[in-house]
Amino acid sequence: IKLFTVIGARPQFIKAAVISRLVRDVYKNQVREVLVHTGQHYDQNMSDIFFEDMDIPRPDFFLSINEKSHGAMTGKILIKLEELMINQKPDLVLVYGDTNSTLAGALAASKLHIPIAHVEAGLRSFWKKMPEEQNRILTDHLADFLFCPTDTAINNLKNESIINNVFNVGDIMLDSFNYYNGMLENKPLKFIQVDKQSDFNLNSLNKFSLLTLHRAENTTSKQTLDSIFENLNKLNTPIIFPVHPRTRDVIKSFGLRIPSSIMCVEPVGYFEMLYLLRSCERVITDSGGLQKEAFFAKKQCFTLRNQTEWVETLHNNCNTLLDPETTFHEIILKNEPFGPFHSYFGSGRTGKDIIDAILKTI
Ligand code: UDP
Repeated sequence: IKLFTVIGARPQFIKAAVISRLVRDVYKNQVREVLVHTGQHYDQNMSDIFFEDMDIPRPDFFLSINEKSHGAMTGKILIKLEELMINQKPDLVLVYGDTNSTLAGALAASKLHIPIAHVEAGLRSFWKKMPEEQNRILTDHLADFLFCPTDTAINNLKNESIINNVFNVGDIMLDSFNYYNGMLENKPLKFIQVDKQSDFNLNSLNKFSLLTLHRAENTTSKQTLDSIFENLNKLNTPIIFPVHPRTRDVIKSFGLRIPSSIMCVEPVGYFEMLYLLRSCERVITDSGGLQKEAFFAKKQCFTLRNQTEWVETLHNNCNTLLDPETTFHEIILKNEPFGPFHSYFGSGRTGKDIIDAILKTI
């Protein structure tokens, strides 16, 4: 069968790496993949580094679409993908997660009556203003194959009357986490750059928190960002902060001063991220993916949001939601016991189960 895979943003490269590798190494006689990169994330450290380090095949098509507004971005991707799908005549369109590229891929395929598979189906934050939530709901309602990471996701779909071709396959990020963690020992880790000025050696830091921050709700108001940095400063612990380009831009435009305990670094590659995860004391984030990776790495996580799609991570204090606009540093400093970490996210064979289910049904 001919698979048409749409990716565009960092977390999608990390998920797609699994299936692309399986197609190349295990299923090459049954599946051919056309890989399309929409261009949503295109910088060296948000895109290229993942293709290089994770050995993802070069995209067959690169659409160079990186509009700032959601409507323009989704619309332009939709137009280009429709053209490409008409030319390529795939048997199935594969989309991942919850970005504008996901929705545009699903919409284009749906109008052309091409079956759609959605990986990471059924996730809900139940907050409709969240751009990712809009993309998830719409994509799930268009998809023909729904690959859910958890029982909760299956139930969410059931509540929206989506019951056909719904599979609980576990979380594809666990496949990536296990596979690349296994390669970490032999990897020369690139030095992580601090403020573009000086390199600093992680080995000299023995206790630090790992921070990422990029959700729209946390990066549009100066007040919210001020509150977050003020709280983090009170932790009195070094914090390593790979800064997402969107966040870097707003920090600059608001003229925010970052406390000196927070070391801002450029976004890092996946291997560096796994190394940071392994070495850190705790994770503080608003990322969906990182909440789970903290869980896989058995690190305590604090999520700077009022809700999470990954509700399983909240069990046993493994993950704690913090309202970014309140005084939350005391909650982190309480050092509440956490764990054990149960295996809610499948067996780490998600990629294979997805391809097998597709081959069986299509
Ligand atoms: N990530 C990375 N380098 C970074 C920040 C994140 O490799 O500097 C990885 C992270 O480990 C996870 C994924 O990117 O696998 C999460 O992406 P992001 O937070 O951008 O998106 P979300 O998961 O919130 O949709």
